[in-house]
Amino acid sequence: MSLLDTDRIREDFPVLDRNVASGQPLAYLDNAASTQRPRAVIDAMDDCYRRYYSNVHRGIHTLSEESTRAYEMARKTTASFINAPATCEVIFAAGTTAAINTVARSWGDTHVGPDDVILVLISEHHANIVPWHQLAARTGCRVEFVPMDENFEISDAVVAEYLDRFQPKMFAFAAASNTLGSEYPVQRWTSMAHDYGATVLIDAAQAAPHQQIDVQAWDADFIVFSGHKVCGPTGIGVLYGKQELLEEIPAFLGGGGMILNVTTDGFTSQELPEKFEAGTPPIVEAIGLAAALKYLSAIGMDRIHAHECVLGQRVDAGLRAIDGVRVIGPTADKKAGINSFLIDGVHAHDVSQFLDGYGVAVRAGHHCTMPLHEAMGVTATTRASCYLYNTPAEVDRLLEAVTDVRSKFA
Ligand code: PLP
Repeated sequence: MSLLDTDRIREDFPVLDRNVASGQPLAYLDNAASTQRPRAVIDAMDDCYRRYYSNVHRGIHTLSEESTRAYEMARKTTASFINAPATCEVIFAAGTTAAINTVARSWGDTHVGPDDVILVLISEHHANIVPWHQLAARTGCRVEFVPMDENFEISDAVVAEYLDRFQPKMFAFAAASNTLGSEYPVQRWTSMAHDYGATVLIDAAQAAPHQQIDVQAWDADFIVFSGHKVCGPTGIGVLYGKQELLEEIPAFLGGGGMILNVTTDGFTSQELPEKFEAGTPPIVEAIGLAAALKYLSAIGMDRIHAHECVLGQRVDAGLRAIDGVRVIGPTADKKAGINSFLIDGVHAHDVSQFLDGYGVAVRAGHHCTMPLHEAMGVTATTRASCYLYNTPAEVDRLLEAVTDVRSKFA
């Protein structure tokens, strides 16, 4: 597997040039939390604000028409990035969290009753747990969790067993875990869940930045991801849904933009996609997201994935070789660029603070996966996550810093 030309790529990301508070050059390894933006994204948003920004859809003037065209082009670009059969299946939401909440409300409130089960993985992000707990509070349904084994893995057999045992109405799972780094077999598990009659939602927040998403191959009913994890802006994400399903379920948020007609008695909803985009949408963010998706596509998702696998394996092998360091996650061949770990005798928050002193930015805590941490019997881990602009030298700086921290506390 080959590495990307990071010298070239890093020129596109102004922030990567800076030093941090300790005076050390930045090694940004906190990409699972949020990625950085290339000039292409910054420039596209800047250009919109400077030249043609206006509200979309309703205005009959030049700026509004130009903004509307750019906003709808962004939807087309996004649809093509995920290979959606119809552009109207792409709904712009505020992010992954907002998109899952929309599904839990619009689909959940109309399809789920007190005898039903929502099945998720124990490794899910809170964004794919709490909306289902809230749905349970509204409807009386239950949320059940597929466990992992002692190697931090979830086998097809266990997924099949839980599908069979609970016959869930919904199977909602992340394509890749933000804590373990595990990449799950989306297509296979989706097909297994469909055989049991379940609706499937894929949380692609950690997959979209790193793998080619093909909604037609995956065949899931809903797929969601966030802009800020794919080098795009904050405040925007994608809710993909199969057209017939999106047409059937009611809108969650009500207001301007999503209506065809309003009377003193009630309202009728717009067609897709406006039906799910109440209020002024994230116009400039959509334009920035499209620029990000084009940027990643030009490099190639397969090449990005291969690059991260090389770096991820280097992190995994390096950490496992340090005495007193434990990697929390499966073997390197089952994950890409995310590695969580523990250093004996040092709290994860202290590790993160020490590493900042070496210029290395990582994340510490429960990473919004408290049930997973509880299942592992730990309260917090430190997580290093690589992306397309990271280099082997940055990985080595991380490993040297971890070795140093460990030796100070041994
Ligand atoms: N799901 C996963 C797997 C994530 O990693 C994250 C963010 O860390 C989310 C959901 C929530 O994403 P957002 O905060 O952009 O809504």
